[in-house]
Amino acid sequence: MTTGKLAFLAGRHPLIVGALGTLMALGVMTISLITLVAARDAAVEHAHETSRNVTAVLVSNIARTLETSDNSLLALISALKNPSIQSMDPELRHELLFDRTAATYVTGMGVADSQGRLVDGCCSTSHKWDFSDRDYFLAHRRSANLGLYVSSVYRARSRPGAESIAMTRRIDQPDGSFGGVVIVAIDVDYFRQLLSKLDVGPHGVTAIVRTDGTLVARNPADRRATPINVGKSPVFPRMVNQEAGFYAAHSASDGVLRLYTFQRVPGTPLIAVVAPAEGDVLASWKRLAWIVGIAASSVSVAFCAVVWLLAFALRDHAKTQVLLTNLTQTDSLTGLKNRRALDEVLQNEWARLQRHDGCLSVLFVDADNFKQYNDRYGHAQGDVALIRLAECINRHVRRRGDLAARYGGEEFVVVLPDTDETGAVRIAEAIRREVEHDHPTPPSQPVPPFTVSIGCATGRRSRPSSLEELTNLADLALYEAKRKGRNGVVAAVDMVEPTQPQS
Ligand code: GH3
Ligand code: MG
Ligand code: MG
Repeated sequence: MTTGKLAFLAGRHPLIVGALGTLMALGVMTISLITLVAARDAAVEHAHETSRNVTAVLVSNIARTLETSDNSLLALISALKNPSIQSMDPELRHELLFDRTAATYVTGMGVADSQGRLVDGCCSTSHKWDFSDRDYFLAHRRSANLGLYVSSVYRARSRPGAESIAMTRRIDQPDGSFGGVVIVAIDVDYFRQLLSKLDVGPHGVTAIVRTDGTLVARNPADRRATPINVGKSPVFPRMVNQEAGFYAAHSASDGVLRLYTFQRVPGTPLIAVVAPAEGDVLASWKRLAWIVGIAASSVSVAFCAVVWLLAFALRDHAKTQVLLTNLTQTDSLTGLKNRRALDEVLQNEWARLQRHDGCLSVLFVDADNFKQYNDRYGHAQGDVALIRLAECINRHVRRRGDLAARYGGEEFVVVLPDTDETGAVRIAEAIRREVEHDHPTPPSQPVPPFTVSIGCATGRRSRPSSLEELTNLADLALYEAKRKGRNGVVAAVDMVEPTQPQS
């Protein structure tokens, strides 16, 4: 398809062109949107990946610390069961069991009897502390099979105000009854320091929580009087029931939307949580989204505007083209088709006739004595008469494909496709009669009445041999009508002289 045809089609259907342009613009917007959504998902996925790695490092650190402490507990229990150590001088035994360089995070280590009283321990033996109210003591007394117990956070009695968690194991008497607990106390600050080394963005949070929802440590620290209980969060059960996971939720403490990655410290009730704020994670994505969004919408709106303007400009152009084409094919006086259009239609109809079995009739209509009419009534009145004659001819050309045209001067041609001789003569006669009645000239006038003479010719495939011959026949028939005295219709077939019988 040529550009010209495209422009023509676009001119004929500006709405379709505009709609197509709008669709393309919407397509650009959709692609931008899809790309942005994919970039957002990638940013969240990347944050998740990073959080998972950070959480894994945190868990492995805590696990190593707890394992070391648990080994100390196991060694202490085994030493307590050893009769030779039991029978040692108490001071020597104390020195053997507790007087070692402990890790910095260990704030205390000791043995409590079945009543919860501290019987021996490092750091503070001078005071007979009572631990019978501690959760670990109650838990071990209640159950013989707890193994390693990690307590909730408590305020240490030996270090006023300082917070600790205890790792404890049960001491069994030889008969299996409860014989007390061995305790390693770990400073909660140790966990806080661990968390403070992790960078999770300006609004991110790292935390270590127990499966009962109590907080062990949090960075940034929670300064409220009543510590947060994350157990109240609707998503907390998920943390408890899964070894590791990821979810996005609004924080119960400050309402910030965060991306939580959590992992359980194996064999303990502790859960490590790394939660960067979604706003921090998506900060650069948001900048990109603004830039892409504004650029894509501006380009799309501009594109739409240009397409619609172009479509309407093309429509106006096409309208002008149609108008110009009509002007070049229309006779300015009568409004009928002119000679140029007539030639084109005749050529087409003649070509069509050669392909089909049908007929094509042509009428040559000529105003009678028009020169005299002009001379009598004036040229302007002559023009009016020609216009009325054109209207009259046009009224009789009703079928689709029929054509009435002004051949020139006071001559008109009617093209009647698929019309035989009889039909052509009938139409010609109807025109002639109407002109005769439409233009009655008063008998007193010296000029002849306004009438027309019409010559008809009908062609079929290869008969006559050319279009020129067909029009010549119609012309000849017209001359015959003039010769016969005007105001008459003559068909070309009627002009054939009857064959004289041979004598
Ligand atoms: P005939 O019956 O033999 O056709 O005689 P006629 O007078 O009609 O034929 P002729 O060819 O001698 O004269 C045609 C006249 O038609 C001459 C011209 O003044 C007039 N005529 C041609 N075109 C126009 C036109 O556009 N307007 C007017 N008013 N007259 C026209
Ligand atoms: Mg003439
Ligand atoms: Mg004439």
